[in-house]
Amino acid sequence: MTTKIPFDVQRVRADFPILQRTVHGKPLVYLDTAASAQRPLAVIEATDRFYREHNANVHRGVHTLSQEATDLYEGGRRRLAAHINAASEREVILTRGTTESVNLVAQSFLRPKLHPGDEILVTHMEHHSNIVPWQMLCEQTGAVLKVAPINQRGELELDALEAMLSERVQLLGVVHISNALGTINPVAEVCRLARRFDIPVLVDGAQAMPHTHVDVQALGCDFYCLSGHKMYGPTGIGALWAREATLEEMPPWQGGGEMIERVTFEKSTWNRLPAKFEAGTPNIAGGVGLGAAVEYLEGLGTDAIEAHENAVLTYATEKLAAIEGLRIIGTAAKKAGVISFTLGEIHPHDLGTIVDHYGVALRTGHHCTMPVMQFFNVPATARASFGLYNTVEEVDVLVDALERTRAMFQA
Ligand code: PMP
Repeated sequence: MTTKIPFDVQRVRADFPILQRTVHGKPLVYLDTAASAQRPLAVIEATDRFYREHNANVHRGVHTLSQEATDLYEGGRRRLAAHINAASEREVILTRGTTESVNLVAQSFLRPKLHPGDEILVTHMEHHSNIVPWQMLCEQTGAVLKVAPINQRGELELDALEAMLSERVQLLGVVHISNALGTINPVAEVCRLARRFDIPVLVDGAQAMPHTHVDVQALGCDFYCLSGHKMYGPTGIGALWAREATLEEMPPWQGGGEMIERVTFEKSTWNRLPAKFEAGTPNIAGGVGLGAAVEYLEGLGTDAIEAHENAVLTYATEKLAAIEGLRIIGTAAKKAGVISFTLGEIHPHDLGTIVDHYGVALRTGHHCTMPVMQFFNVPATARASFGLYNTVEEVDVLVDALERTRAMFQA
């Protein structure tokens, strides 16, 4: 089959130094972008330059380096805010990542509102980071966690979700793109349904940010959570987006430096947004690198990235489906660049270890989505995930490695 490649993937690959390396003497075939993306030179150099030339603590310093560091860090926030169409940078709280963003919403926004018997609704395909913080909150408050079902293709059952909406539901948590199944959820539609009952919606956008254009206002959600390292930026940095009015109403989450306006032993008052939610010295170089990652993605164009990844996904789905004994878990009509699968009776961990010897980096395990594994009645899957730098030739290497593994187990 001929696959139309919407942009020059070889030129893009040259932006990622790590893709030049070999593993076990073979060219690296990195198919684990859903766990953590590789970084382009633009991000590596932005953080390197920050440490070499501008490093200092942010916000409080009058000296030149501190002001430069503040400008660069806040520049990253501004760039991200514009990228997701936030109304202002005050709506973007920089966190450690998606997990911390969800915990922030759980403890600051929702905890003060909850009463015993209230409900929190999530879907069956959530990552643990959009399950466990709510479970902990239920234990703390007597609220109840409800789960909207999925079908055998790994799609959300929208009718069933709609039937679960009521005045009792105090928050709905939904993943934009599933890291385990690749399913793209109809998030705008979910938000529309939830609005009928005034239910705030939190979207886990960890996988969506690198793959597609995210416009938080167009989605109609209340909270959007993201991670830098999934979108070709550094680890340890991410963000929570929420409307300014919502954030103004929320109490601070962690106490310490940065988040205060004035402190006495009798009483402290809080800083303005977004600092109110950013206690302590932040991940400054991370913020700088995140800004560089956004700039990089915008330079390539999110439409072109999406089209390229879709082309690779279509090719890979066809090729993998043709392998004898291979079962694809997650066959939603709308999918992003993730293929979870099992191969005959071969344990995914064995599979992952063997294909590593062909240079192929796959993720194996439960992908922090144990309930998804339970639903499909598998202990684990192998997962190939595709980023903007992957090629159809790399898919061929994967297919060849899988065929060889299958033959080995048959012998
Ligand atoms: N949600 C999804 C869909 C994810 O893929 C991940 C990371 N695997 C997370 C949440 C958690 O992200 P982080 O570890 O960066 O907080």
